Amino acid sequence: MKRACDNAVEYVYQYIDSELTGVRKTRISMHLKRCGHCHDAFQFEKDLKAKIAASGKTQPPQELFDQIRALIETERKNRAQDG
Ligand SMILES: [Zn+2]
Repeated sequence: MKRACDNAVEYVYQYIDSELTGVRKTRISMHLKRCGHCHDAFQFEKDLKAKIAASGKTQPPQELFDQIRALIETERKNRAQDG
């Protein structure tokens, strides 16, 4: 199960950017439906993108995304330790 989450987190950003196609896209989509944690991460990133788009900036700072990805990674590791 952890391995599936690793895959999902790795590809979720590409999934949001609609860069995924075929089987990979289907796999992420199915995983997001089953896994609350990955779905949260996905939803968070998606909302953030929408907010940035709504604010009129088409090019969000890469730094911001790096920070958020680091946060998600940290959260993921914490959860892994807990359970
Ligand atoms: Zn997951």
